[in-house]
Amino acid sequence: MTRDSRTGSARRRKCPRCGRPVLQQLVGRVAALDVTADDELLPADQAAALRTDNRLDWCLRTTRAGTELQWADCHRRRTPCPRPHVVDHVCTGPRVPSPARSRRRPVPVPAGQLTL
Ligand SMILES: [Zn+2]
Repeated sequence: MTRDSRTGSARRRKCPRCGRPVLQQLVGRVAALDVTADDELLPADQAAALRTDNRLDWCLRTTRAGTELQWADCHRRRTPCPRPHVVDHVCTGPRVPSPARSRRRPVPVPAGQLTL
């Protein structure tokens, strides 16, 4: 669980692969999304410009409990959102190999037998 159980706010940590500071939180109440975003605050319009189909931006709300990531549906408003925004973390660190799959080879079978 990446959401702080006491406050429900985002947790600041470092990406284990590239070491960049990131914010992590489960965003949403029903079907929550496990979000890891760069801990770099941007104006709403700059964050929206970085958004792609696979990289979302998030509206940052600061409460007494801490910092909370929210869906950036504030872009629909006519006035620009005054809150800082962050964008999903795109990791540039080294890939972590999955040892179970990369070293597994198919077992040889006699000719004519199907492998499963
Ligand atoms: Zn990273």
